[in-house]
Amino acid sequence: MAMTSESEASTQVLAARNPATGEVIGTVRKTLREDVAGLVQRARQAQVVWSQTSFRDRSAALDRFKLAIARDAEGWARAVRDEIGKPFGEALAEVVSTLDAMRWTIRKGHQALRGTSIGPGHQLALLVPGARQIWRPYGVVGMIGTWNYPLFLNAPTITQAVFAGNGVVWKPSEHAPLLGQKLDEAIAAAGFPDGLVVTVQGEGDVGQALVESPIDKGLFTGGIQNGRHVLTELAKRGIPAIAELSGFDAAIVLPDAPRESAVNALLWAGFVGVGQTCVAVKRVYVVGDPLPWAEALGSRAKELRVGNPASEPVDIGPLISEMARSRFDQTVRRSEAAGARLVTGGRALPGHGWFYAPTVLLADNDEAESVLEGCFGPLMIVRGFATADEALAAANRSQYALAASVWGRDRHEVNRVASRLDAGMVTINDAVTPSALASAPFGGAKASGFGRTRGVLGLREFVYSQTVQSRSPGGFRPHLFPYSDRIIKLLKTYVKWFHGG
Ligand code: NAD
Repeated sequence: MAMTSESEASTQVLAARNPATGEVIGTVRKTLREDVAGLVQRARQAQVVWSQTSFRDRSAALDRFKLAIARDAEGWARAVRDEIGKPFGEALAEVVSTLDAMRWTIRKGHQALRGTSIGPGHQLALLVPGARQIWRPYGVVGMIGTWNYPLFLNAPTITQAVFAGNGVVWKPSEHAPLLGQKLDEAIAAAGFPDGLVVTVQGEGDVGQALVESPIDKGLFTGGIQNGRHVLTELAKRGIPAIAELSGFDAAIVLPDAPRESAVNALLWAGFVGVGQTCVAVKRVYVVGDPLPWAEALGSRAKELRVGNPASEPVDIGPLISEMARSRFDQTVRRSEAAGARLVTGGRALPGHGWFYAPTVLLADNDEAESVLEGCFGPLMIVRGFATADEALAAANRSQYALAASVWGRDRHEVNRVASRLDAGMVTINDAVTPSALASAPFGGAKASGFGRTRGVLGLREFVYSQTVQSRSPGGFRPHLFPYSDRIIKLLKTYVKWFHGG
């Protein structure tokens, strides 16, 4: 047997750490980069057969996939708690949202992918036959995932791609390899054809191998920098992609917003998942005096219980890694240097694990805010604006446009502001939770990405439209060589009758 050196062995496995303790809690085998293209080819062979199956058969297999997760819902919540650091209840809510999204596709997906008849309509005189428009799967979808919602961001999209008739090769984040393995076990329980849905494990280099493999569509979820790199690589080969990238969500608080209930909701929307939630509220734009809002958010943030969710009741767990915490801390320092006032937090907490105090900043200049763009941690920056339109203009100035919210009582004003916000998702008097709506499309605009996941639009990302037209064999066709005067006369009459020429 060949000897393996320690460094070679460590390049072959991914170690999973509990971010609340820093301890290694398991390892998984990395997929070799050179094996990825072959796995995609294998998925393609399985997909050719799978694409011929009925929606009923696909639903049955996907139901088994869903059931495998549902039967182990608490096990899933514990696994998310231990590998990502979320409080158990928060992790269980992720499991519930995942199952709901999967169920929507299993039950309603066939309606979204039903073909339609297109009549000749006003073109009757042109003697063009009507058509049927149908949806065809792309082939093999390559998915590159992130770790912050390791189940919710992966299982529903795999479900949609497979329901639409595709094969899937997907890579979980290197920060959630055990959860990737657990999802792989649920995939196995579905009994899909061999090789149809494959999990590859590894870091960015394995992601890169997937991007370079012969996939037919890409789905990337993660940061803007890697996302743009992946999009560029795919674009070079003309491969379409969905990009779910970073957010820096604004909440516009109108003068009549009820402070106590809005602060409660904003606090949760800012600090859920330690602020490592792509749609977490990061910018609180108060129309009027921001100080009472910053103080109220600050004093409530101080009450939040931060700690290891496996050993005590907590509201907030750790950041995902030491590096993520140190990067986040430097961002807070830069904002302070640019003039932001620290209302609360702003420091790493001592001890094992990568904890950070929930942070509220108050600022009155653009730079203190712009240095925070895209930061991923427990932070809200509060700013004041004289009018709703000024707050709106500031919200829309950002390149990020994932989600945004408006808070207030006056329905007319709230709707007016909401209708002018640049964002893929807008909520009124709420934030974050509406992203769990199983039937609603999820995704951003501007630098936050394009394409959608979940709901009808999410499902249709995994198919392309095919127009099928048919004439009877040997039947009449208006255009045939040689061109005749009769056809020219007919076309002239058509212009006159239908277009007034
Ligand atoms: P990341 O960009 O570091 O990594 C995302 C994935 O890309 C990982 O699986 C990683 O291995 C892979 N990757 C890295 N380099 C690659 C390469 N060259 N080729 C192919 N794949 C490569 O992001 P992250 O730290 O995992 O996630 C945090 C970010 O994700 C935050 O910015 C957050 O806002 C964003 N996010 C967005 C959404 C959304 O739906 N819009 C959801 C969750 C998180």
